Amino acid sequence: MPSLRGRLFLHPENHLVPAEITWDDGGRIERIEPMLSANTGPVVLPGFIDEHIHGISGMDVMDEDSNRFVNMSQALARHGVTGFVAATVTAPIDPDLKRVIKQSRAAAQDGMPGASLLGIHLEGPFIDPTCKGAQPESSIIAPTIERARELIGDNSDGWVRLITMAPNIPGALDVVRWMVSRRVAVNLGHSGATWDIGREALEAGATGLTHFFNAMSPLKHREPGLAGLGLMSSQVWCELITDGIHVRPEVVRYVFQTMGKRVLLITDAMAAAAMPDGDYRLGGRPVRVFGGSARLADGTLAGSVLTLDHALRNLLQWEVPLPAIVAAISQNPAARLGLPDRGRLAPAMRADMVLMDSDWQIQATLRAGVAIYDAR
Ligand SMILES: [Zn+2]
Repeated sequence: MPSLRGRLFLHPENHLVPAEITWDDGGRIERIEPMLSANTGPVVLPGFIDEHIHGISGMDVMDEDSNRFVNMSQALARHGVTGFVAATVTAPIDPDLKRVIKQSRAAAQDGMPGASLLGIHLEGPFIDPTCKGAQPESSIIAPTIERARELIGDNSDGWVRLITMAPNIPGALDVVRWMVSRRVAVNLGHSGATWDIGREALEAGATGLTHFFNAMSPLKHREPGLAGLGLMSSQVWCELITDGIHVRPEVVRYVFQTMGKRVLLITDAMAAAAMPDGDYRLGGRPVRVFGGSARLADGTLAGSVLTLDHALRNLLQWEVPLPAIVAAISQNPAARLGLPDRGRLAPAMRADMVLMDSDWQIQATLRAGVAIYDAR
């Protein structure tokens, strides 16, 4: 049976342990044997999972190119990602969003060569125009159950895993309930909602916040907004972009200190991730990339050029403890997406592993025990 040795991040130890890990031909972890020997071999972390990514290496989820999901899957493997949820931008339901849902489902059924394509994250179109960020205002529409049904049908296979919605638009709470009943997890985001409306949306079934702090009502002491809800609610998952641009490092550190069990590292990356600076597009809109940021002509941030391995290195540099980082990059997203066999290195789990060197660079990525990227 295949095996490897290294310093494995294990639960419940919650730190790196010299060990040998063995998996079966079906890609399931068979056993993990701690070793007494010195600390040698790579650091081995559970595979990274990104629930919010628009593109990488020149590819964009909204493109027409039929190979884009395969190319994204391969590109993401180089960065330690073993599973991703492809994010759309706000666009007409028919034909654009329906086309992307259909094409992505078909692509996943054909199989991915790298990271697993786990489903679709609809960012819009039911968002708040006052917090649109880089989402095109002309395609923002009011939430109705009729439109929701046109968008995802009955979603019986759960392929649409996530939707980002603004709860403060009339009709939104009914659509939150409807989405949850159709197996779609609801993130609140692109919204100027008050604390009270945010609370109502959580009661209606919403469970997360999209790119925490960005494009949402800020924390004020009498009106804590969605940012306050994220900090103070004990249940809500919070997506965080740790490129040092979207959220200041000191705030990132505070978020990990106070709510580490609820953080989901995401990239919100667009096509320019893992590419040189220059002119790109996000869902068809022109975006200029320079100095690590991606912006519309008016300066609005338009996604990021972050990759999850870079996010991890940033967090280590900002002195966030490794266990909190591993939780946010693997374990929490797996729990959030309802993937009970991912996100941890333990017997019976899928052998999704990231091998890193002492500088926290990716050496190899394994999905179900098979190398999907190998630089060794
Ligand atoms: Zn996004």
